[in-house]
Amino acid sequence: MLYQGVLTKMETEFSQPIQYYLVFDSDFLNMNQLLGKTLQMKFVGYQCLNCGLNKEIYRQGFCKSCFFDIPQAADWIMRPELSTAHLDKEDRDLEYEKKVQLQPHIVYLANSSNVKVGVTRKSQVPTRWIDQGAHEAIEIVEVPNRYLAGITEVALKEFVADKTNWRTMLKNDIADEDLVAWRERLKTHIPEEAKDYYIESNTETNIDFPVLQYPEKPKSLNIKKEGSYTGKLVGIKGQYLIFEDQRVFNIRSNEGLIVQIEIS
Ligand SMILES: [Zn+2]
Repeated sequence: MLYQGVLTKMETEFSQPIQYYLVFDSDFLNMNQLLGKTLQMKFVGYQCLNCGLNKEIYRQGFCKSCFFDIPQAADWIMRPELSTAHLDKEDRDLEYEKKVQLQPHIVYLANSSNVKVGVTRKSQVPTRWIDQGAHEAIEIVEVPNRYLAGITEVALKEFVADKTNWRTMLKNDIADEDLVAWRERLKTHIPEEAKDYYIESNTETNIDFPVLQYPEKPKSLNIKKEGSYTGKLVGIKGQYLIFEDQRVFNIRSNEGLIVQIEIS
């Protein structure tokens, strides 16, 4: 079977294990069903996720001019503490910013390679954790807007990591941490404005990924540079496809690329 389309991050379904779907305009691939099969992937071109043009992708699936222009790629996306919609203050498009920023957000702990703090819209739980390849996660606070989540994350970063190591995550070289205890230790460092939003009682969410074989030395596949690649799919974790020869392909960081996939 031959499929072609523009890459966007895989859709997921929270089940045991996680179900992954690659969604193209005209096709919908359940990636779990492709485990054990050989995939041939070819780089075809670009399609910016905003303007749709065949222009080189700069970041987050957008071409350079879209990235520096549209509200979906503003600085407060990656740095929630820069959010200003709660002050009625526009960055790029106040209507869009109000819609996204003025809704419940969660500050959480997730463990994919180590325990880290992060921010997400409440509607993105547990999707965000799945996308990061976290095997366990827990909420700390639920706040009414993105700004409050951002300043809480900044304060907690002093005491817990905010980055993960993708190689460790993919090797599954991981420890089981007591996130309830972590949460209780961090509680005292939540900033004053967000303290009332602490979620008093909570348990860990555990996530089970469909992986037949973890790579010992994962090596990233750059499909733009290599043009094409053939390998047997042996796992999916986070937004990564894992192949038998230890190559790994991050769908998320290749958003906006048009690829052709042949399954045999
Ligand atoms: Zn564009």
